Amino acid sequence: MKVLQERIRQEGLILSDTVLKVDSFLNHQVDTELALQIGQEFKRLFGHLPITKIITIEASGIQFAMATAIALGVPFVYAKKKKAVTLSEAVYSAPVHSFTRKEDYMVSVSQKYIGPSDKVLIVDDFLATGAALVGLVDIVQEAGAELLGVGCVIEKCFQEGRSLLEDRGIEVHALARITSMSPGEIHFIDNESS
Ligand code: 5GP
Repeated sequence: MKVLQERIRQEGLILSDTVLKVDSFLNHQVDTELALQIGQEFKRLFGHLPITKIITIEASGIQFAMATAIALGVPFVYAKKKKAVTLSEAVYSAPVHSFTRKEDYMVSVSQKYIGPSDKVLIVDDFLATGAALVGLVDIVQEAGAELLGVGCVIEKCFQEGRSLLEDRGIEVHALARITSMSPGEIHFIDNESS
């Protein structure tokens, strides 16, 4: 997605060879017009599938899940993050190790909001090590729902996330695919997105 690549080039802060900060338009302040365009792009890539629900993780996936849900005309659900291992309500949950925060947490979704009749698209902001998304995939499977694909706004292709998901037979699309970066320099793969 060219417009997204341009914004990353202009405003992305490359903190190290592995961490990109995009707080001015994606992760802290949100450019809502761009978020809506991202939703339309996921519709272009996944809209032929019979998706009934979008799932993401709080907090930074929410605006993109919502934009995609609006584009597809379906609800979205965000998994909640909790430090505690004991969960009182009836939830599906999975452990996740955070790459950016270097800590472990649980993600959970109420059993009321995902079930065997759902056909799910997972949407998130970054695909890096894949740990967060694998946690969501486990929740979808535990719920007996069908996973139709994973859409990420930014992929860091030099980390192992995509292969973890593709090894499980999951269709993955990312809108800006970074092959390498270092302060002052960033390279993208030109993919199928507009
Ligand atoms: P993963 O589990 O794929 O390693 O990444 C999980 C989450 O960490 C992403 O959804 C994102 O919120 C955050 N993350 C991973 N890498 C980056 C990065 O380079 N920059 C930012 N801003 N967040 C990241």
